[in-house]
Amino acid sequence: MPDLTGDPNQHPPTDSLTGSCLCGSITVTINDSELFTKPRGHLCHCSNCRKVAGSYVSSNLLIEAEKVDIQDRDGTLKTYEDRATGSGNPVFRSFCSVDGNPVKSETGAYPGKVILKMGMMPRIPQPEMEGFGLHRHAWQGKHEGITMYEVKWAGPDRKPME
Ligand SMILES: [Zn+2]
Repeated sequence: MPDLTGDPNQHPPTDSLTGSCLCGSITVTINDSELFTKPRGHLCHCSNCRKVAGSYVSSNLLIEAEKVDIQDRDGTLKTYEDRATGSGNPVFRSFCSVDGNPVKSETGAYPGKVILKMGMMPRIPQPEMEGFGLHRHAWQGKHEGITMYEVKWAGPDRKPME
């Protein structure tokens, strides 16, 4: 049974990180020796990520699928095929069908990888990048030390913001 406390200080950084959805059916474990040794993951301000996160930003981690173990105790993991994407490529968004907890996204743009929704983790690594910076709300505080991009945070056509 994972510890449900939201205090990151109760979860010292290690090579393994486990989180669960609200009802406890789905458990996600990341095994990666560099999880907390450098900034990892990205924040996304795109409208689809915001809807899924239920918030002004989504906290995501793109990682090799082989480093991730997902247990679905009660068979509650469901996947929504999101075709309303800017690129037109579908994004497969998985969530717990009991409590609505976002779990992961998968897209053909990143074969062999998953994008984990980090809100379910008791400790979130410091993000490396911020995507869709043009869609960011002005009232939000700036995250120092995180590189913000106008739209995409990966690929050759990404544009850093001043
Ligand atoms: Zn659940």
